[in-house]
Amino acid sequence: MQSLARTPVLLVALDFDGTLAPLVDVPSEARMGGRARAAIDQLAALPDTHVALVSGRMLADLRLVSETPPDSRILLAGSHGAQLHVPAGHEVAHDAPPSADIATLSADLADQLSILENVWVERKPYGFVVHTRLADERGATRAHAIVDGFARERLQGWRRRGGHDVVEYSERPEGKDGAIRALRDAVGATAVLFAGDDETDEDALRALQPGDLGVRVGSGVTAATMRVENATEMAELLSRLAELRTRNLSS
Ligand SMILES: [Mg+2]
Repeated sequence: MQSLARTPVLLVALDFDGTLAPLVDVPSEARMGGRARAAIDQLAALPDTHVALVSGRMLADLRLVSETPPDSRILLAGSHGAQLHVPAGHEVAHDAPPSADIATLSADLADQLSILENVWVERKPYGFVVHTRLADERGATRAHAIVDGFARERLQGWRRRGGHDVVEYSERPEGKDGAIRALRDAVGATAVLFAGDDETDEDALRALQPGDLGVRVGSGVTAATMRVENATEMAELLSRLAELRTRNLSS
């Protein structure tokens, strides 16, 4: 932590749901707590210090729930990195339109899933996510079987991602590892902190380099070298980092 706080150019890259914001039943209601907000705003305001939110959510949705206005200094990577927003002065990656007919595919899948209760399909720019958070275990298992069967038939070559009560299919292969690489290059970071709570975050955690710090939030097998219990502890860690770096930069 001390060496991170001292690195010449620091990138603090954070997953959103379950890492900064506690997990909630209604995804659109997820918000980060006051302590996390204060810590990332403090970090983002420091010189040679960049904060990025790296999420599976689509960019516009991530902007909304993270309450990050377009002119903010905070960088955003949506759709696991397939959509990047970096403030002026950094290189911007453009996103291409999807090649598949996502609307028709999600409608057909939603139709197949309509026999199940509390299961819903969320359309994404390059695919869709099936949510089973509110379904019982039997319903969730059946939903996953239906989605995977649908994928075998109609989504050849798409990337599957599992997560907390979700299964996602995307025609784009980008993972959070690629997002971290792009962000590290865009800001010229000399060290990176990445924190996440889910399977898709492990792509990024595995891609970290010597001198970086990986943090896993909650339980699960991980490539991270540090673990915190939940979003509250994560906010505390970020506050400590912000304090340390503020002190180092002013001394
Ligand atoms: Mg998460």
